[in-house]
Amino acid sequence: SAYVFHFGGGAVSSDPRAKDKTIAGGKGSNLAEMAGIGLPVPPGFTISTEVCTYYNANAKTFDDALRASVAAGVAHVEAATGRVFGDAVNPLLVSVRSGARVSMPGMMDTVLNLGLNDQTVEGLAAGSGDPRFAWDSYRRFVQMYSDVVLGLDHHRFEDALEIVKEDNGFFSDVELGAEHWQALVGEYKAIVQEQLGRPFPQDVHEQLWGAIGAVFDSWESDRAKVYRRLNDIPADWGTAVNVQAMVFGNMGDTSATGVAFTRDPATGEKAYYGEWLVNAQGEDVVAGIRTPQYLTLAARERAGAKPLSMEESMPGAYGELAHVFELLEKHYADMQDIEFTVEQGKLWMLQTRSGKRTAKAALKMAVDMVAEGLIDEATAIRRIDPMALDQLLHPTLDPKAKRDVLTKGLPASPGAASGAVVFDADTAQMLAERGDAVILVRVETSPEDIHGMHAAKGILTARGGMTSHAAVVARGMGRPCVSGASGLSIDMKAKVARMGDREIREGDVITLDGSNGEVMAGKVDTVEPELVGDFGTLMVWADKHRRMKVRANAETPLDCQVARQFGAEGVGLCRTEHMFFDAGRISAVRQMILADDEAGRRTALAKLLPEQRSDFQSIFEVMAGLPVTIRLLDPPLHEFLPHGDAEFADLAEVTGLGVEHLKRRAGELHEFNPMLGHRGCRLGITFPEIYEMQARAIFEAACDVADKSGDAPIPEVMIPLVATRKELEILRALVDRVALEVFAEKGRTLEYLVGTMIELPRAALMAGEIAEEATFFSFGTNDLTQTTLGVSRDDAARFLNPYVEQGIYPRDPFVSLDIEGVGQLVEMAAERGRKTRPGLKLGICGEHGGDPASIAFCEKTGLDYVSASPYRVPIARLAAAQASL
Ligand code: PEP
Ligand code: MG
Repeated sequence: SAYVFHFGGGAVSSDPRAKDKTIAGGKGSNLAEMAGIGLPVPPGFTISTEVCTYYNANAKTFDDALRASVAAGVAHVEAATGRVFGDAVNPLLVSVRSGARVSMPGMMDTVLNLGLNDQTVEGLAAGSGDPRFAWDSYRRFVQMYSDVVLGLDHHRFEDALEIVKEDNGFFSDVELGAEHWQALVGEYKAIVQEQLGRPFPQDVHEQLWGAIGAVFDSWESDRAKVYRRLNDIPADWGTAVNVQAMVFGNMGDTSATGVAFTRDPATGEKAYYGEWLVNAQGEDVVAGIRTPQYLTLAARERAGAKPLSMEESMPGAYGELAHVFELLEKHYADMQDIEFTVEQGKLWMLQTRSGKRTAKAALKMAVDMVAEGLIDEATAIRRIDPMALDQLLHPTLDPKAKRDVLTKGLPASPGAASGAVVFDADTAQMLAERGDAVILVRVETSPEDIHGMHAAKGILTARGGMTSHAAVVARGMGRPCVSGASGLSIDMKAKVARMGDREIREGDVITLDGSNGEVMAGKVDTVEPELVGDFGTLMVWADKHRRMKVRANAETPLDCQVARQFGAEGVGLCRTEHMFFDAGRISAVRQMILADDEAGRRTALAKLLPEQRSDFQSIFEVMAGLPVTIRLLDPPLHEFLPHGDAEFADLAEVTGLGVEHLKRRAGELHEFNPMLGHRGCRLGITFPEIYEMQARAIFEAACDVADKSGDAPIPEVMIPLVATRKELEILRALVDRVALEVFAEKGRTLEYLVGTMIELPRAALMAGEIAEEATFFSFGTNDLTQTTLGVSRDDAARFLNPYVEQGIYPRDPFVSLDIEGVGQLVEMAAERGRKTRPGLKLGICGEHGGDPASIAFCEKTGLDYVSASPYRVPIARLAAAQASL
């Protein structure tokens, strides 16, 4: 019928829906595929997912026609096996299994050995010549059916088994004989009668319908619902049900069962990988009741294990299995995860699906399969999850190592780091300089901690979200970071921290896992990344297939070098305020800010000019010939202010101004809402001499590097936080004027651009007008998200998680662009900007530039490039390629 598909025993459904996962489910469609290519699949039939949807929408009832279809299905299995369902002499037993479109491991129900009752068990015993096997199967069935279909507590059954073992002095199940199992079946049936007030069903058809209903019911179980929500699986997909003739891996020493991968899922090596057990049923391998054995001789020898591999002890069945592996890989053109059973020497295939794998294995398999001619480059590119590359770009914790978890925060920057705890940046730097590995632990980090963050192997903060300062800077530097660890509190005076319920002192060693947010006691071993070989090959393919360019957010020569190594094609965002905090400059910066007038500011700026110039020189040298987008000063001024009396005293000495005077000036600079305060181009408008100094430093550096190397840098001067055309007009005129001055002094000219960030809703709305003054737009989606959602970047961590859990936002909008909302502004600005200036260059430099889903949106919107932190550049290259395929 339209809702039931037969497979196996020579049956090949001509209905294309039989091989369609959405109709027949993953397991059912793959069984149909395997049967179709002639593999030994026990005969059976699949009830489609549509029946599940009908059942759950119609008060758990079935369409009348289904009864006849299921009867026809049973008749097909009877004919194919030569057995009869419910027959006392030659009984057919079946398994009833769920099978959703995507695998939902362990979420739904299965019943094995169905069709056994007080009569058929005798037939099974006589037919197999093995009463012990028959009664063992029957007691397994009664227990499983009672648990899954009748809803009885399985503990009662387990307790009864324990008592039999104790009474007889047995340690393991294999010691029980036929008579013990038979007695136990009697007890099991008594438990059912006692609990339900009716007997265990003896009618095999009642058993079958009970199991089919239970599988459909399990689609609506709490755990299935939770799993669906976590994995974005729609409730109306439903599950299919597969009814299939049982084959037995537990019929003595010529029988076995196992699971296998056609290639090693951990390393990707082209070698069969699997586990098997002689004389066992499928669940035994997975449940860990007995220790499974190696599949191949090579694996057994490598592990130095004693029990014989399947290759050695069942060479015939193994040879057949190996042949099947080859056929399946060719057919699916992918690594397969397989379940099989050998029944008295005969091999049966129970399941196949594309196997889960580590990032490393995914790369190796993709590259190998292209070389083998199994897949093309585009398929290889599509097959790698860009985010999984992260696993390969940072040292990671050895998965085999023990973890003593102290507390947990947000996985703000991936990778692993171990070191001694320090609570301030200066100590971090001091200890790092003498070669110690340290972890900087702070309530939150401020830009002034940057030297300490750089010196540290990893950063841990109690506050702040995924786009907090600590997180952004750490990702940029490739430092592992765990942020917003609410179980962390710090007593700075006593130099101790509480992590969970433990006390950690300065100098104690901890380990951070920036990939899952765990903080652990002691040093946990790591493994180093490898960026060559398969990784390099895949990147070359990705570059060939992508349209958008990929740049990096970087502001030190070292970050630029890393970015180039990772394949960056320019700098998309150089945040100059990060340079202002660097070694020894801070006092000149403070002097500038606290100056009473322009003359005072100019004196301080004169000290900063040579420093900035040399910063830019080294960046231009590293990025020779590539575009470098330099953003003029952005952050709120008060961030630079001195804290505490000692710093004020120091500054008083440098400036010759009194402490009281400085404190009063600092008080005047206090802001209630700094994120919306005196920052970005507002600084340039009110203190033009600051931007003048920066522009001068840029052009002087660019001319010097061009003179020296001939490979002229292409500076792109970027004005932040613009809301109006007029702001940009004024500041663009300033930059152009300084450029002309410098060119006149240097006796040469250079190509350069002046553009703006689009990071305020008004800028997006007015993009048409703003484009009159800009030759490029770079979307600052961090601030654009903050201002569009009205959600503070630095405070979001406290409430965004519940928001995501309740589905208010599908993902953290600071991590993955809110395409529906913020995306509209990006699209609008791109369109309006290009209408005014058709050649307008468009890019993105918010954190979203390294997020695959956001990158796909950028491709669709027609941006020219994305810019991401250096360690995200390879991810962006791959995601951009996938977006353009
Ligand atoms: C942005 O706002 O997206 C941006 C890149 O600037 P910043 O993160 O420095 O505010
Ligand atoms: Mg910004």
